[in-house]
Parts: sequence; structure tokens; C-alpha cells
Amino acid sequence: MRPRDLSAHQAYVPGRGAEEVARELGMDPDELTKLSSNENPHGPSPDAVAAIEDAAPEVHVYPKSSHTDLTDALAERWDLASEQVWVSAGADGALDYLSRAFLEPGDRVLTPEPGFAYYPMSARYHHGEVAEYDLSKADDFAQTSEVVLDAYDGERIVYVTTPHNPTGSEMPRDDIVELLESVDDETLVVVDEAYGEYSDEPSSIELLAEHDNLAVTRTFSKAFGLAGLRIGYAAVPEEWADAYARVNTPFAASEVACRAALAALGDEEHVEKSVETAKWAREHYRANLEAETWPSGANFVLAEVGDASAVAEAAQKRGVIVRDTSSFGLPECVRVSCGTREETRRAVEVLNEVIADLD
Ligand code: PMP
Repeated sequence: MRPRDLSAHQAYVPGRGAEEVARELGMDPDELTKLSSNENPHGPSPDAVAAIEDAAPEVHVYPKSSHTDLTDALAERWDLASEQVWVSAGADGALDYLSRAFLEPGDRVLTPEPGFAYYPMSARYHHGEVAEYDLSKADDFAQTSEVVLDAYDGERIVYVTTPHNPTGSEMPRDDIVELLESVDDETLVVVDEAYGEYSDEPSSIELLAEHDNLAVTRTFSKAFGLAGLRIGYAAVPEEWADAYARVNTPFAASEVACRAALAALGDEEHVEKSVETAKWAREHYRANLEAETWPSGANFVLAEVGDASAVAEAAQKRGVIVRDTSSFGLPECVRVSCGTREETRRAVEVLNEVIADLD
């Protein structure tokens, strides 16, 4: 007995945690600075931690299936109806719900290249096929409607990541509107705003009032510091109110996660501090790394360092873990997350040493 033929599926290889790397290198995990997964260096909001503690004695009970406290709060935040918020296990879960709701076997999706690996994976899990648009065609990986529409051929779903992982580039509002208005009636545009809090651009959620071929995904993993709890959401058009209950995984978002997310949403000061640190850090990287870097609207910077795998390995030995972007098709670059000021300064020091040594 074997599973069906999964050879077309890319295996998901999660980034390794600091503890695993430390064990391998014979180091103390506290000596390592992990800047490879775009996590929040300030950790979760203390309000979220208190909410988790409060919820702990009740984990023997199933969560409220409709997650109404959280959807109500998000609906108020974005001026939507509560039914327009699809709560999920991370933004990844929201991407899956959209694949399930839209893809019939053999439908094609259009994904950015380089780009976030889960779009093609989710599409294939749902029996879809994958086409790509090439972001490296434009200077600075600039995201325009033209780059997407040049490759567009009536796909069922088109993914836009803004700010984009791993380059940090952003698609301006006018281009998103142009895209929404240019694609066929049966094409859904998914705007992934996993890094939206770090951007100065307005959220595409505002466009839902006028466009019913749009879904916007967001997460509590980054600026809200709750990556380990797996909680995110999609904001969708009002017309789809009945679809969520037909595609969601029962109880995929835990009550602990929902309560923590609600508390994190209320702690605006923590989010502001997190965003401010990231904005400082990305400027610090751009000003001080001895490598070409690109403008970033997110909590990381892409840097061209030469042999990315050698640089990442040597940096790791010196205690700084960065992401080699070879798996994104960028073998000469590393993506380095924004840390605290101290971590960010240390990353610059180590990366510059390593780049010079390997030169
Ligand atoms: N979209 C993008 C572009 C991402 O980089 C990530 C996280 N790596 C996600 C979605 C998923 O985030 P999560 O599932 O943790 O909410």
C-alpha cells in the first residue's frame, strides 16, 4: 500500500530552529541569532501571553467553531462584515481554503518566481497546475501589473505577494487595481499581505468594497509575534459568506490561538514597536552590508553575497543564521530578517566578515 503518486509535489522542508542548529554545531542555542524565518525579535505581546495563560485551563473544550470574537474584531479593524473574515491555521491555512474553494482538478494558478513556495504546493495539493511570472525581468524585482499580465493566460488564481518574499518589493495600489480589472471574470487575485504591517502602502483589503475577484491573506506570525500558534486569516468578498463553512478544516484554529490573536490585535503599542525596529533594521542592513541589497517593505532584506550557501554556512558557524535563497532560485543571495538592534548589528558584522573572507 502506498499513497497516490506524489512525485509532482515539492516536499516541504521547514527552516531549522536555533536549537537544532546549535546541537549540530555543538553550540549553546543562546549563542545563536536566528534571522532566517522573519520572526518578531520582540516576541509576542505580553497581553497575548496573558491570554494564552487564561485560556490554558480550558483546552479540553473544542474552540468556538466560528471564531466569532476574533472575526468580529478583525471585521471592525478592516470595516468588513464578520463573515468576510476566514480565520485559519496561519496564512498558509488561508491559502489552502482559497485553493479548496476555487480549484477544480487541472485548473492553473499563476505564481511569482522567485516566490513563496507554498502557492504552488497548495495548488498541487488541490489538483491544480502551476505557471509562473518572472519577477527578475524587471529592475529591482519591481512588481507591476504588466509583469503579471505578460505571463497571464486565464489562470484560475493569480498570486501577488506584497511586500514580496524574498525580495521585499511591493506592488503599488494602482497596479493591483489594474490587475483586478484586467483579468478574466473567472480569475481570483490573491494578494498575500503576510508582511503588510511593515509596509507603508495601504492594504488591499480596502479594495474588497469594489472588487469581488479579490482575497487578501494576512497573518499573526510576523508583526504580532505569534508564529508558533499558527493563526492567520483571509479577507474575502461579502458574496462568499457561505463558502467558509464548506472548505475549512474543523477547529483548525485553536481557542488559545484565537484568544492570543485577539489580545495581540489590541496591543497596538507592541505592533508599533515591532514595526519600528524592523524599519530601523532594514535601513541598517541597506546602509552597512557590503553587498548589493534591495529596498524592502517587509521585516527582512535580500542581499547579494556571492555563493549564498557558503556564506550562510560560514555565518551560521559564527552564530548568525540567515536564509540562503537558493531554493527560491536566487543562489547568490541571502535573506536576512530584521532582528533587535543588537542582533541586526551583529548580523552585519558577521556577514561582512564572511563576505570578505570568501571573496
Ligand atoms: N505568505 C508569505 C509570503 C510568507 O512568507 C509566509 C511565511 N513564511 C506565509 C505566507 C505564511 O505565514 P503563516 O502560515 O506563518 O501565517
